[in-house]
Amino acid sequence: MLKPLCEQNGIPVYGLYVNGQWVASAQEVLAPDHSPADNALIAYVHQASATEIEAALHSAQCAAKDWANTLVATKEALFFRLREVILARRTEIQQLLIRESGSAFKKALWEIDYVIDLIQTMVGEIRRISGETMPTTIDGRVSMSFRQPLGVVLGICPFNSPFLLTMKKVVPAVAAGNAIIIKPSEETPLSGLLIADLFEEAGLPPGVLNVINAAVSDVSPALTEDPRIKAITFTGSTRTGRLLAEGAARGLKRITLEMGGKGPLVVLRDADLDAAVRAATFGAFLHQGQVCMAGSRVIVDSALHDEFCTRFVERAKQVRVGPPDQEDTVVGPLIRLSQCAFIAGQIEDAVSKGAVVRCGGTHDGPYFAPTVLSGVTPAMRIYHEESFGPVVSVLRAQDTQDALRLANDTAYGLSAAVMTENLRDAWYFAQNIEAGMVHVNDSTISDEPHVPFGGVKSSGFGREGGRYSIEEMTELKWVTFQTGKASFPF
Ligand code: NAD
Repeated sequence: MLKPLCEQNGIPVYGLYVNGQWVASAQEVLAPDHSPADNALIAYVHQASATEIEAALHSAQCAAKDWANTLVATKEALFFRLREVILARRTEIQQLLIRESGSAFKKALWEIDYVIDLIQTMVGEIRRISGETMPTTIDGRVSMSFRQPLGVVLGICPFNSPFLLTMKKVVPAVAAGNAIIIKPSEETPLSGLLIADLFEEAGLPPGVLNVINAAVSDVSPALTEDPRIKAITFTGSTRTGRLLAEGAARGLKRITLEMGGKGPLVVLRDADLDAAVRAATFGAFLHQGQVCMAGSRVIVDSALHDEFCTRFVERAKQVRVGPPDQEDTVVGPLIRLSQCAFIAGQIEDAVSKGAVVRCGGTHDGPYFAPTVLSGVTPAMRIYHEESFGPVVSVLRAQDTQDALRLANDTAYGLSAAVMTENLRDAWYFAQNIEAGMVHVNDSTISDEPHVPFGGVKSSGFGREGGRYSIEEMTELKWVTFQTGKASFPF
């Protein structure tokens, strides 16, 4: 069980995790942590000052050296234990995700199952971290490459799937032999601390993982641009990612950016309509639409458009909205009330310019009703902006070419999907959609721990998953041996 440092008026107070210790911030700055479902105050969390940030950097830098040289079998054994710890503490993790992030009951379990799969995947990768030998034009030379850990990596994480998305950074970084400092979202600080607690129980040496909850102004640029940080792995909004990329460019620091999306689900005229409606419903409403891969634009061939809308709206109305701790809830609370106001503003703008709300459009506190809009045009904010809520626009396409044009008419390029029975059309879309990931006859939402997950355009660059994460988390070094005598021109 994650243990608080103390209590304040009956509310638990949690520390920071630095060099294997649970510590208070030197300046005793506490931030409240509220549950999205009922706005209850669930904890106070220490916010790092410059002192703890420096301590985290120092301990990570020291620990990285030993961890890089730790035997593969020792690293594997750590991950085997971590897997057991997570399985034993599954209910505790699930309850925290429900309470702190507003995750629906089943989605929280899916996050945990994904992390188990991720650990198994990365344990497999540890022994495959390898280089190659290569031919050479130089007499007597042996030429080869090998991979080395980067040193200290900084992971900056979002609120929406805090366990899964943080583990997607920590597990590969540690597997590849790095130390990592994690900066959780201010919305989900305990989920970040829980990860440190799980690793601690599994026996990770002090300093290899540090968790720093802190105000953004204290983290950036003090931590993000510190030269001891060799790489940043970021998941979050495009706005934040752009700022971090600017800082990384100044320091010539490696950065991986997993950012926002405006995913298209394209329904061509020969699509299985029932399958399309199901894919659209899942893609739009899972975790109340707070998913980077959400299919927030459904582009339907005009031959099917009206029938699709009718059936989609019927299904959207059946999606269960309710408290996240109930087993059959699909749409729980949005992370904060201001997000409801933001989405309501997008809908109001769209309606004032001619869009039609086919269902939903309103919210009860943090619970936003599943919302389907039609008649959305490029003049409307919602055509372009990510909503990060359970709101989906259905767009009418004149034909297959027009559907592709609409699919690509966005600054984002994360995930896309196309529903069709025609192999040629499927392949044409897979090749020509401007997205990092394309799914045929499936939802835009899909992830497995070994695949190259990531986007293009304003959705980011770099890939997370399996060996792709290992590549992001290691440096390739070229080495030669002269087995004879090197010859020089002078
Ligand atoms: P956010 O950008 O507001 O915050 C993400 C993290 O960045 C938080 O930890 C935050 O504290 C930190 N941060 C904010 N400003 C910073 C700064 N100037 N310097 C350093 N750190 C800073 O994003 P969010 O609201 O937490 O998450 C939602 C966004 O994340 C959506 O756009 C969503 O699409 C995206 N997302 C992308 C993926 C993906 O894999 N591509 C996955 C999940 C979420």
